[in-house]
Amino acid sequence: MSATSSSPLPSVAASDRFRSDTFPLIFERSSPGRRAARPPVTEGDDMASLLGAEHLRAEPPRLPEVAELDLVRHYTQLAHRQFSIDGNVYPLGSCTMKYNPKLHEDVAERFLDLHPYQDEDSVQGILELLCELQTDLEELTGMDEVSLQPAAGAHGELAGILMIRAFHMANGEGEQRRVVICPDGAHGTNPATAAMAGYDVVEVPTGPDGEVDVEAFQAALGPHVAAVMLTNPNTLGIFETRIEEIAERAHEVGAQLYYDGANLNAIVGRARPGDMGFDVVHLNLHKTFTTPHGGGGPGTGPVGVKSHLAPYLPAPRILQEGERFVVEGERASSIGRMRSFYGNVGNLVRAWAYIRRLGLEGLKRVSTIAVLNANYLRVRMREAGYEIAFDRVNMHEFVARPPAGIRTLDIAKAMLDYGVHPMTVYFPLVVREAMMVEPTETESLETLDAYAAVLAEVLETAQRDPAALAEAPRLTPVRRLDEVAAARRPVLRYAFVDAAD
Ligand SMILES: *Cc1c(COP(=O)(O)O)cnc(C)c1O
Repeated sequence: MSATSSSPLPSVAASDRFRSDTFPLIFERSSPGRRAARPPVTEGDDMASLLGAEHLRAEPPRLPEVAELDLVRHYTQLAHRQFSIDGNVYPLGSCTMKYNPKLHEDVAERFLDLHPYQDEDSVQGILELLCELQTDLEELTGMDEVSLQPAAGAHGELAGILMIRAFHMANGEGEQRRVVICPDGAHGTNPATAAMAGYDVVEVPTGPDGEVDVEAFQAALGPHVAAVMLTNPNTLGIFETRIEEIAERAHEVGAQLYYDGANLNAIVGRARPGDMGFDVVHLNLHKTFTTPHGGGGPGTGPVGVKSHLAPYLPAPRILQEGERFVVEGERASSIGRMRSFYGNVGNLVRAWAYIRRLGLEGLKRVSTIAVLNANYLRVRMREAGYEIAFDRVNMHEFVARPPAGIRTLDIAKAMLDYGVHPMTVYFPLVVREAMMVEPTETESLETLDAYAAVLAEVLETAQRDPAALAEAPRLTPVRRLDEVAAARRPVLRYAFVDAAD
C-alpha cells in the first residue's frame, strides 16, 4: 500500500514497475548491419544451394537489425510488463490462479528429449507415468476411465458432450435428445460446447439460495434432454446441496450428467463427482493441478467417464499389460482423436508430480485451505463495505459487488495501480456488477490482508473522490483502453516506418 498523502492512489514515482518504458521498442533500435547472431555459413556456401532457390525471398524481410543485448533487453522488458502469479496475487474467480511450483518445471524438463514417434519400448517410463496419472485422476474423480487427450477445459467439455451424443446415438435416441440444460450461472464454454455439438441450450435459473432452482430444473427435464452440464460448487462458489436429487432426476429421464471440473479445487481429495452421480468429468490441470496456464499449449483438460461411456473415449489411452505399458489403439466406437500424439505431455508430467508430491492428505489440505482463504476474504470484503451476493459460507470462491452507484470496472482499474490483479469481473452474469474472487490455498494470510486492504482503500476512494477513480489506472503502460475497438480492430503488427518515409 503505497498511497501518498496528496493522492489516494500511489504516485507515479512510487512504482518503478513500468520504468522499462524509458527504452524504445526493438524496431526503433534498429541500426543497419547490426546483428545479434549470424548463421553458420562458411565461405563458398551459397544460400540457394543450401536451402533451395525456391525458398529464398526476393526482398530481405524488414526485421530490426540489433545487437544481442538490445534483443535480450527487448524481451526482458516485455516480460516485465507481463502480470503473472510469480509477480503478485492474481485471484481470478473460476480460473484457480494458484502458484505453479518450480520443482514441477524441473521434473517436466527431464522428459524434454523424448519424441512422440519413438517406439513404445524406448518410452516405457513416460507411458508408466501417464498410466499412473490416468489412475490417479480416476480415483480423485470417481470415474472409471480417464483420457488425457484434450488440450483445455473447453476441449474436454467438447470431448465429453461428443461422447454423450455418441452414447445416445448408439441407443437409437440421437434424434430425440436435442437439448442440453445449463444453469444461468454457467461458464460460457458450457453452452458454447453444447451448441458446437449441435444441441439446443435450455437455461435454468439460480434460486434465492444461490443453488440451481430444482423445481425449474425438473420442469425443463424430459426425454428430449441429452445432458445436464453443472459445476459443483457452482460459479457462485456455492455447493449444490441437492446434487444427488438432481442426478437422480436427470437419470430418470435418460439424460447424462456432465461435471465441469473447473471448480474441483474446492473439493479435491474430499468429494468426488463420480459419487455425486456425474457420468462425465473434465479437469483443468492448469487450474486444480498447478500446471501453467499456457506452457506449451493452451492447457490440459483430461476427461473421465463412467464405464457405460468408456467405448466412446478419445484415443489413445495408456494401458498396463503385465510389466509393459502400451498405447491402446482407437476403440471401435471412439469419438476419435482430440489432439495429436499423447496430449500436452509436459503439463501431464507436472500434474503427476503435483499429485505424487502431495498425496491424498496433501490434496485434502489444498481444498481445505482454498475454502478457508475464500471465506476469510469474503468476510474481509464485507467488512470493507462490499456487498456479498448470496452471503453464506462459500467454497473456494465467492461473488461480491460494490455498493450501488459504484462500478466494478472502476474498482478493478484502480486496483491495477497497486500492482495486484483484480478478481474476475462481470461474471457470473446472474450477479449485477459481479466481482468473483478466488484467492486459492497458495496465498498467505498476509497477502490476503494486503489484498483486502487494497480493496478497502479503493472503495474508500470511490466513495470520497469518484473522479480520482475514473482516472485510474495511472501507472500502467496503457491506461483505459477502448475495449470494444481492442477486440474488434486489434492492431497486431508493429507499423514499420522507413526513415525515408
Ligand atoms: C476455466 C473454466 C472453463 C474452461 O476451461 P479452459 O481450460 O479455460 O478451456 C469451464 N468452466 C469453468 C467454470 C471455468 O472456470
